[in-house]
Amino acid sequence: MLSSIDDTTLMKVAEALGEEDAIKLIGILKNSDETTDDEIANKTGIRINSIRKILYKLYDHSLVSLRRTRDPKTGWFIFHWRLQPDQLEGFIVSQKRRVLEKLSVRLEYEKNHDFFYCGTPGCRRFPFEETVELVFRCPTCGKPLMHFDNDKIVSALAGKVEQLRKELGE
Ligand SMILES: [Zn+2]
Repeated sequence: MLSSIDDTTLMKVAEALGEEDAIKLIGILKNSDETTDDEIANKTGIRINSIRKILYKLYDHSLVSLRRTRDPKTGWFIFHWRLQPDQLEGFIVSQKRRVLEKLSVRLEYEKNHDFFYCGTPGCRRFPFEETVELVFRCPTCGKPLMHFDNDKIVSALAGKVEQLRKELGE
């Protein structure tokens, strides 16, 4: 049906939603024209509540459309879902843009600050101004705060930022 969408794209969408089951669910949607919550539950074995949660997330991002009918026997609503493939690319682009923005802010922060660290795993690093206020002592473990070289962090962030810019054609 929607074979034009490659699985990598779908994986990225599922990843962005932060739901492991989303991968299976989007796979089902991809291979059917229109489907209901129950049909997805039968095919995947995922609990109906999780399915609905994921579907509403997708719906929030306009990645699926929803049609409602009423079951003539029970009188309950039946929800029919359909993947909106034309929205997927836009969704991924906007997700990437969000990540790029966050990473750029983080990169600038790392570049513009000197950091101090006690060396204890789990403790945080402090920028110079805060370190002075703390009198060069870690408030968590009590060890002295030493200058921390963040070159590796800066270059890793810069690499990611550059890659995203390229992918976004910026
Ligand atoms: Zn510490």
